[in-house]
This record gives sequence, C-alpha cells and structure tokens, in this order.
Amino acid sequence: MHQTRTSSDPRTILSDPLLNKGTAFTEAERDYLGLHGLLPSHVATMAGQIDRRIAVLRAFSTSFEKYAFLRDLQDTNETLFYALLAQHRSELLPLVYTPTVGEACVRFSEIYSRPRGLFLSYPLKGRLSQILADLPFDDVEVICATDGERILGLGDQGAGGMGIPIGKLSLYTDCAGIDPARTLPVMIDTGTDNEALRENPLYVGWRNKRVRGAEYDSFIEEFVEAVRERWPHAMLQWEDFAGPNAVALLHRYRDRLPSFNDDIQGTAATALAAILSAERLAGIDLAQHKLLLFGAGAAGCGIASLLVDELEKRGLSRDKARGCIYAVDRDGLIIEGANVAIPGQALIARPEAEAGGWLASGSAPGLIETIERVHPAVLIGTSGQFGAFGEPVVRAMTKHHDRPIILPLSNPVTRSEASAEDIEAWSDGRAIIGTGSPSQGATGAVTQVNNVYIFPGIGLGALVSGVTRITDAMFIEAAKALASLKPEGSGDALFPPSEQLADVADCVALAVCRVAERDLGAIPPLDGWEKAIARRRWVPAYRNSLCSPNIERTHNAIS
Ligand code: NAD
Repeated sequence: MHQTRTSSDPRTILSDPLLNKGTAFTEAERDYLGLHGLLPSHVATMAGQIDRRIAVLRAFSTSFEKYAFLRDLQDTNETLFYALLAQHRSELLPLVYTPTVGEACVRFSEIYSRPRGLFLSYPLKGRLSQILADLPFDDVEVICATDGERILGLGDQGAGGMGIPIGKLSLYTDCAGIDPARTLPVMIDTGTDNEALRENPLYVGWRNKRVRGAEYDSFIEEFVEAVRERWPHAMLQWEDFAGPNAVALLHRYRDRLPSFNDDIQGTAATALAAILSAERLAGIDLAQHKLLLFGAGAAGCGIASLLVDELEKRGLSRDKARGCIYAVDRDGLIIEGANVAIPGQALIARPEAEAGGWLASGSAPGLIETIERVHPAVLIGTSGQFGAFGEPVVRAMTKHHDRPIILPLSNPVTRSEASAEDIEAWSDGRAIIGTGSPSQGATGAVTQVNNVYIFPGIGLGALVSGVTRITDAMFIEAAKALASLKPEGSGDALFPPSEQLADVADCVALAVCRVAERDLGAIPPLDGWEKAIARRRWVPAYRNSLCSPNIERTHNAIS
C-alpha cells in the first residue's frame, strides 16, 4: 500500500544534503515524497553508490579536482560523502584534509558554489546575535572558527580559510562520529592583508585590510557572546588564527566556554604523543636528553609548554625541564634578553648565563650550530620553512644518536622542513620519522603526525563529559592515550594507521572523560564512559524517510 504523498515541494528533500539519498530513495519513499520523475529509475544501494562515486573520483587526475568533487558530494548528499570517506579513509583523508585542503583554501573562491556554515564578515558587526538567532541551525554542538589569517603554512588566505573549518569538521564526523547536522564551520571575515586576494575579481570575501586591535577584539567578543547565547553548550575550536591572536583568544575564552586552539594545544598533544611513542622505539628516556624545536610560533611554543609539563611530571624541577628544551627561530637560538619575540618563547629561551657566550660572534647560533653544541635527541620542525632540514642538519642529528627522532611537522608539503625519503637517506635509515602531511618512506607509509589524531577525540570527550572548559591535563592524557595505541610489530610507525582513526578518537575521548571526572567532577553515566561514547556515534547510513522527524520539520518549514 502506498503511503499518502506529502504536499510539499519534493525538490526540497533532494537539495538538502542532510536528507538527500539521490538514487537510493526507495520506491515507497519516492511515492511518499513525490520523487518519481525527478530521479532515474534505478534504485541504488549505498554500497553501489559508493562504488560508482569512488570510480568517478579516481578518474580525476589532480588532487584538487578530487577535492572539488568530494566537496560537491558533501554539499549534495552528506550521508554518502561520509560513507565513502569511512570506506576509503586512507585514500580520501589527504584530499579532504591536509595536504590538499591547503590548495583548496588558496583556490576557495574559484570553486565556491553553495553555502556551508557561517560567513560572519565585519560589516555585520552589531547584528551577530540576531543573525545566529534567525538561522535554522538549532542543534549545533561543535563549532570550528577561523579568521583565515594563518592558514597552514600558507599565510593569510582571507575568506578562503573557510576550507579549514569545513575540513576539520568533516573529520569530527568521520573520526569522532559527531552528527554533521550538529557541526558548524565559521569564517570570521575581518578582511585580509593579502593584497593579491583583495584585488582578485573572483575573491568572495570582504575586500578590506584586516581590522585590528580593539575593533577586532570587540567583533570576536560579539561572536563569542552570540554563540553562548544561541548554543550555550557548544564547544568551540579556534583554528588557524595568526600567532598573537591565537594565543590571546585561547587565554581570553578558555574559561568562558569549552574551547581550545588546535594549532597550539592539539598540535602539542599530537607531537607529545609522537615523541612518547618514538622514545620507546629509540629506547631512551627523554628526561635525560635535549629536544630542539625549529620554529617557535603558536605550534612550537604549545609543544614546548606541554613537553615541560610532561618532564615535570617525570620528577624534573621546572628549571631542569625547561633546560631540556632548545628553540631556534628566525633569529637563531632563542636566548633570554636577546631575541625573545613573543611571550610564549620566554619559557624556552636559554638563560644568558648559558648561551650568552654563544653570542660572541654577534648573532645567536643557527640550526646546525645549535645541533652541534647541544646534541639533541629530538628535532621538531614547526617553522613552515620548506627544506630547512637539509642533509647537513640530518647528518648532524645522526652524529650523536643511534636513532635520532626527526619530526618535520609543517604543512602543507610545500612548507615541510624535509621529506621522509630524504631524512631516511641522509640518516642511513636510522632516524625515527613523523611528518605533518601523509608521506611515503622506503619501507612504506611514514607516520603522519597530525592533529587529526587528537582533536576529534578531544571534542567528543568534552561533549560526552559535558565539561564547561577544556584543560591542559586533558591534552596530556590524550597524548598518552594516543601513544599507547602504537600497534605491536608495526616497525617505526608511531601511531595506528589512519584506517583506525575512529578507534583513536574513542580512546582519546575516554581519556578526556576520565580527566573531566577526576579534575572537574564530571559524573560518569551508570553504564560507564565507554558506552556513553559509543552511544553518541553517528553512522553514515540512510534513515527511513517515511518516518524521519527531520523530513517532517523540513516539510513544515516550507509548507
Ligand atoms: P607560526 O607562524 O605561529 O609559527 C612559525 C614560526 O616559525 C614563527 O615563530 C616564525 O618566526 C618561525 N620561522 C619563520 N621562518 C623561520 C626560519 N627561517 N627559521 C626559523 N624559524 C622560522 O605558525 P604555527 O601555527 O606555529 O605553524 C607553523 C607550521 O606548523 C605551519 O606550517 C603549520 O602547518 C604547521 N603545523 C602542523 C601541525 C600538524 O599537525 N602537523 C599542526 C599545527 C601547525
């Protein structure tokens, strides 16, 4: 028997990416929704749709074309997009996320076609609360916001930076199982200082120099207050803000709403996890060694701060812990009273008494000179300087350690300090390597030391435990949980392969919930945190459109 057909415009369902199933609408659904004639006759299964889509995707020759194809699928049929991603994660992750997402931000205006998320530009100042109230995003739980000023290592991409929140939230869904209807990417468009963009006729953002100072701060304040009013329990991830703003916003808002900065805290936890895992492989104790950071900006300083915390936990005094870490920035080794450029660098600046003599030649030692003086066991790159770890740097690292740990973390590949292949060759295969973007070494895939191993689980854990703030302890425990997942017999791999990112997110979320319980008094559900985490997982499977409350809502809204 046919269900009575609804009276509303059937095309509405087909153009809603959260409800659309394309050719997978069943005969009964086609009857009920009035879709006959609007779809070809074949009723597909999701498995069949996945096979068809992956075949089309593989026929494109460039990563950017594949990215555009996937974004189009996401904007037309989100369930299928996530099912495809889950089934082909290791192939698709580098397209949806880094490295391809970098090019996608640069060319965002070229491919912009459909609305997704929120574009809050400065001329809307004074109206944000009303705008958020009027929009039909009722169930938002996870927000990822950027102002586009420091996109990966690519600098100011203005409104094109929106590619990053879209990509990150795709991973919240794919890895942590957050319902896509509950995620919201936000571009806070306060202009761009990228002149070429402002002059590009295709540019879709607000064509103005960046608003700075008090005006910028009050716009962000208005945004945060509007978010708190509209979605009082939502979690906010700050993403790809330039250094000074990144640090200031994190400190200003971390106790006002559950929020964190992924470039600072997520990166730090990921790097710490990689170092803990590599430490075991190398058979060393970090507390007995030196670590050298190359590039001490938002990411580098965040890593340094978490490393100091970890070393203190191992029993070192704060001074001793700080003494294990050296940092080289654009003006050489960072030395107190000489070249500390941002507040975060003060923690790792070498005391003048130790390094003052090194200034005898007039300038602070550079990277190689520092390696030769200090003999670090670990070298981490967060400088965005392509090729900075050349052969002499890698050979210097191998001189004093059997298994030096070398982590060029900068993204995308065009900003990476070194390729895994080169490090392998120059260290005669002895270095333990992790790279920011996916890469291949002589014996297979090299571990991608990327925040994707941390942030989805942090968000999931924060939501499940219902905390009102996200603490540093959560990142340390998240790092330990991730490091503990290194599979037995997996050679030099530091983390599980990307196929297991959903399990990783659950494990990180559990660590977060336990810290929330221990430190913030979160109360576990009667059946335990694990069950609560599992219950939350949204899976990319088609829902029955004949009894979906969402369909009813959509119909009521348009009828
Ligand atoms: P940032 O701009 O805050 O910091 C970059 C730092 O590098 C600055 O302190 C800058 O002075 C320094 N620098 C620039 N040129 C240098 C040179 N020639 N020598 C030494 N130092 C130099 O940016 P950030 O947020 O810290 O990000 C830096 C890089 O790290 C980016 O490429 C980003 O993609 C990457 N990153 C990777 C991950 C990951 O998960 N793998 C996470 C976050 C950031």
